[in-house]
Amino acid sequence: MAASPGAVALRVLDGKPVSDPRPGLSGLDLASLEAWLTARGEPAFRARQILDAVWGGSATSIADVTTLPRALATTLDEAFRWTTMVDETLVLADAGQTEKALHRLSDGYSIESVLMHYPARAGRKARHTLCISSQAGCAVGCPFCATGELGFTRDLETAEILDQVRSAVARLKAREDGAHLTNIVFMGMGEPLLNLDRVLESVEALNDPKRLGLGARHITVFTSGVVPGIRRLTALGPQFTLAISIHAARDALRDVLVPLNRRWPVAEVVAAARDHAVATGRRVSYEVTMIGGANDTDADADALANLLRGDLAHVNLIPMNPVAHTPWTASSMPVIEAFAARLQAVGIPVTIRRNRGQEIGAACGQLAAERAGEPAAPAVAWRRKRLEAASAKALLGERSEEPVPAGVD
Ligand code: SF4
Repeated sequence: MAASPGAVALRVLDGKPVSDPRPGLSGLDLASLEAWLTARGEPAFRARQILDAVWGGSATSIADVTTLPRALATTLDEAFRWTTMVDETLVLADAGQTEKALHRLSDGYSIESVLMHYPARAGRKARHTLCISSQAGCAVGCPFCATGELGFTRDLETAEILDQVRSAVARLKAREDGAHLTNIVFMGMGEPLLNLDRVLESVEALNDPKRLGLGARHITVFTSGVVPGIRRLTALGPQFTLAISIHAARDALRDVLVPLNRRWPVAEVVAAARDHAVATGRRVSYEVTMIGGANDTDADADALANLLRGDLAHVNLIPMNPVAHTPWTASSMPVIEAFAARLQAVGIPVTIRRNRGQEIGAACGQLAAERAGEPAAPAVAWRRKRLEAASAKALLGERSEEPVPAGVD
């Protein structure tokens, strides 16, 4: 694989994609496969062979699974899809350390995943972290996010979530350095807690030793603040990490940056996250996309410090990835460091993270947005003007009068 940026065609569909009603094989667990096999008079042990091939082998289709009798492989192929997507494009950045994949679903919609490689250093082992999508598009509409600009299309099926992982695992296997997937974050396209049943099924599969077998502590589920979803997760007591895309601690500003805030204000979100941390004993992670002059002021740092003071929490500050249709740019590093210092002064642990893959638009949704085409110039100008006016009002503390985004409730 080339180590320099640029588009690499992996596999291209001929003609128009056709929606395929067969479920994806990766969405099935051992018990469901055994039930399917025994209902057809096949021995249950074949289920294990199928799962081994789906999650661990080198097969690229059901026909490649040589452990299965030919007739069974044919029946299996008629009932299920080997994969739910075509890996259409792979784009590399950061000297090959960031790989962004555009996956085309059978109904023609595109989703993205990003695989980030972190070489071993200072006593830490190498990490390979995959960021995956849970929805095609997103209803939340955060204005600094290319997916938010695309709008919501549909929830992903469990297999569509998992096949992003299988794609990355296959690419890692093809390397010669023995690299394997170490972390998965649900931070790609979509709001995971608005597709929670499928996200939970996916986490179970990723965790299942008979499938991917990744420890729950290596999985992080992000939310922009779906309070009922956080409460549901707390009741389930998961061991994966909960991360809140907080971005602002003042409601007026968060109404603009995370429009979901008009439905669940920031204090309610943090209260639910705090209860989650207490119930699970797991530290909650808070992410702030640092936007120059918009959410990086001393007042914003102090508001966040007051909100999280004393909590089992950790804050990650990430400079905004440039998104074409906003009036904003990333905060400068001295400003981010000053913001971090104000949080640290009240005992809140902070990490400043580097954004990855700027030259390929590694912020989620940017490849899909490019594919969707550039909106008309007047629409872009109107959007920028509207965001400037909204953030100016927010700095004065005025709450947004715009409605809660459709599809959020
Ligand atoms: S940042 Fe996340 S929640 Fe907000 S619009 Fe983008 S994908 Fe949706």
